[in-house]
Amino acid sequence: VQRLGLRTLRGEKAWEERAADIMPGGVNSPVRAWNGVGGHPLPIASAKGATITDGAGREYLDLVDSWGAGIVGHAHPQVVAAVRAAASRGLSFGATTEAEVELAELIRERYEPAQKVRLVSTGTEATMTALRIARAATGRDVIIKFAGCYHGHSDGLLVAAGSGLATSGVPDSAGVTASVAKDTMVLPYGDVDALTDAFAEHGSRIAAVITEAVPANMGVVAPPAGFHRLVSELCRNEGAVFIVDEVLSGFRAGPAGGWGLERDADIAAGREPWTPDLVTFGKVIGGGLPVAAVAGRADLMDQLAPVGAVYQAGTLSGNPVAVAAGLTTMRLLDDDAYTHLDRISTRLRTGVSAELDAAGITHAVGHAGTLFSVFLGLDKAPVTFDEVSDQDALAYSDMFHSFRSSGIALPPSAYEAWFVSLAHTDEHVTRIVEAVKTWGGREAKQ
Ligand code: PMP
Repeated sequence: VQRLGLRTLRGEKAWEERAADIMPGGVNSPVRAWNGVGGHPLPIASAKGATITDGAGREYLDLVDSWGAGIVGHAHPQVVAAVRAAASRGLSFGATTEAEVELAELIRERYEPAQKVRLVSTGTEATMTALRIARAATGRDVIIKFAGCYHGHSDGLLVAAGSGLATSGVPDSAGVTASVAKDTMVLPYGDVDALTDAFAEHGSRIAAVITEAVPANMGVVAPPAGFHRLVSELCRNEGAVFIVDEVLSGFRAGPAGGWGLERDADIAAGREPWTPDLVTFGKVIGGGLPVAAVAGRADLMDQLAPVGAVYQAGTLSGNPVAVAAGLTTMRLLDDDAYTHLDRISTRLRTGVSAELDAAGITHAVGHAGTLFSVFLGLDKAPVTFDEVSDQDALAYSDMFHSFRSSGIALPPSAYEAWFVSLAHTDEHVTRIVEAVKTWGGREAKQ
């Protein structure tokens, strides 16, 4: 621990003790505590490219990528240079900058339904604001969300919310009042009958339906063909707002996120694409610093103050240093970048799957565009959260720790996506596939 150069680690007490002493669970965000896989994470000292280095100086090939934000690889020289330059011009002004306008324009250029954009700092704020706009615009209260989809930790959305919650086995959060929870209707993802019934029964009370463009907080679930189109039609017919959460999938699943994949498929099939009314972004658009956004139809976005009556604000919204990271990251994401992400993620998911097959390990791979995850113990890619929950999470933990020994950092939960970046190479793919062979499926149900 002396080698760390982490000055805070000196002294008698182990760092875990000190962390647990001062921070609940020793972390500032629950999944970091490895409660889904067991064991004790060391603090991270640094990260570069596809590699992350812990406090003991051990290097891991990183498949977490800051939960998707690190799409161009850690500490990309151009991103770091842009951040340095922005910082030297001033850290925060509490006033609009040109770079904010550029980032918002770039988002709209690549994602047409984002007619107007408001930058915020976290995905939680983005979805919370989207709900507020929808309720204001419709004068209705009820929100429909799907079990296993996570939309941040605002009260009304913290119901049946996947990953962090699924991992710790908490079906819901304490501290959310019954009066807030009653306005959130939770349906099984992909269930056409449940959705049409809900609209038939409660249509005139529904302000919005919110879904992840690609559910990726219960592992990655490919949206069933036509499901989002149906949501869109029901919303339009009943005057509800369709909110597509692209915080994780935006500019990651493909160049125009999860929606873009469906738009391209519709166009290829000669169908008119459906369009979200509101969209939320995060992660990639901040390139590792806190930027998120709510965007969408101009008439809905103009409900926001100072134009409209929906209040929303942020001291650090559109922060110039964070926007510099996001803008540079987005500019690095050109056609070649997506070709690379597509190729590497395809090679990785098919390579890992083939190796699991060779070892006789029952598994399924959920994927949409460049997003994917591996479900051990399932023989068919799941759609609902109940189906996801049948996966063999113990085998995943075993694989996670075996991978660590092989120098590979998988997400510390069976309910998360495996994230690749521009820094991941063919050689990395080979190493990861090799790690499956080394693991060999101990503990896994055959
Ligand atoms: N929506 C989705 C789809 C997410 O994946 C996340 C974060 N994992 C959020 C919202 C919340 O974003 P944040 O953690 O920035 O509040």
